[in-house]
Order: sequence, then C-alpha cells, then structure tokens
Amino acid sequence: MRILLAEDDPAIASLVSGQLQAQGFLVDIAMQGPEVWELGETSDYAAIVLDLGLPGMDGLSILKRWRQAGMQTPVLVLTARGSWMERVDGFDAGADDYLPKPFRSEELIARLRALLRRSQARPNPVVVAGGFQLDEASRRVSFEGRQIEASPMEYRLIAYLATRKGSVVSAIELAAHVQGREDDAAKNAVEAMVTRIRRKTTPDSIQNRRGFGYLLADEQP
Ligand code: CA
Repeated sequence: MRILLAEDDPAIASLVSGQLQAQGFLVDIAMQGPEVWELGETSDYAAIVLDLGLPGMDGLSILKRWRQAGMQTPVLVLTARGSWMERVDGFDAGADDYLPKPFRSEELIARLRALLRRSQARPNPVVVAGGFQLDEASRRVSFEGRQIEASPMEYRLIAYLATRKGSVVSAIELAAHVQGREDDAAKNAVEAMVTRIRRKTTPDSIQNRRGFGYLLADEQP
C-alpha cells in the first residue's frame, strides 16, 4: 500500500518513513507544499500523512483544495502546535484524523491502520452530474454510460464541476482548483480543456454561461 508522507522536517520524515516501510508500506516523501498538492491530486495513495506547516503552500490550503476537487483519500493531519483551533480547522478542511507533535511512530501507525480499515470498508464512491459519472476509487469517467479517456487534469476539472453541480463556476476558479494558478495562461488552459472534454462527449456536456463560467446540470428535479 502506498502512502504519501508530507513532512518538511527531515528527521521526522526519515524516522516515520522507516517505521512505515518496516510495516510493509511503500512511502513517498514530499517536503514542498506545491509538490504535495500535485502528488495528492495526480497519484493514487491509500492514505496521506500531512504536516500542516509546509513551505510554499500550507497543509490546510492543500487539504481544502483536494477536498474541493473531490479527492477522497483518507488524510491524517500532523501539527506542531496541537491547539484545538488547528484541530477544528483541520477537520473542517476535510481531515479524517489528527495527531499532535511530538508523537510516537507506533501511535501514527495505529491511527493510519484504523483510517485504512475505515476507508476500505467504504463502497467505491460514484459521483453523478450532468451525464458524467466519476468513480473516485478508479478515477474513471463515463459520459452517458460510455467510458471516456480523461487526463488527470481533465478528471479534476470534471470532478470539481460535479461537486458544484447546478452552479456556475468561473474559469478562474476552475484554474485555481485544477492547476493551482489563477493567471491568464491557466484560464486559457482550462478553456482548452473544456473544449477537449466536449469533443470526447457532446458539445453541451459542459454548459457555458457566457461571461460567467461553466456548469454541469444537476439532474435532481
Ligand atoms: Ca513542518
């Protein structure tokens, strides 16, 4: 089972990853916020251990973005301070569990195993919106019953629109969630992605509200 360990303290990272590897886990270590965000979005981890204090992009912002994009991987949050405010913020942002530093590796491994048991007991979540079906576990997309090829970015774009189905989402907001940037280049890339997805489905699979943004229809009456 592959675990992402997002921790910028090299001593903690090597201690924890050593213990996890000894327990049979495959561990990827990432120390920079943007890299952590990207890996969490594009790779398939069984669980993620996320330190809140990371350089470049803080852990809470990363976690919020993951959850807003529909990412459901269980996340165990680590924090240096252990204040109840951080704990509340962490759960609000979508953390599944929380461990204050300093902690014993045994405690972390026990919590991680509990998280993995809970997530494996869950059926594969399938999100439906505007004719699209997204399988969160396999990261596959179908449109009107037919599976389509979607790149990780295209998947993220459809997943984000699906979590906001029935609401118009601006190209800039999509750029922020799909690419992590809000500049014109990112906005143009989002527009190009929408065009590609329409080509793979139908011209109005992603609807356009001129001057406002994009949306997926909410099929609920
Ligand atoms: Ca840190």
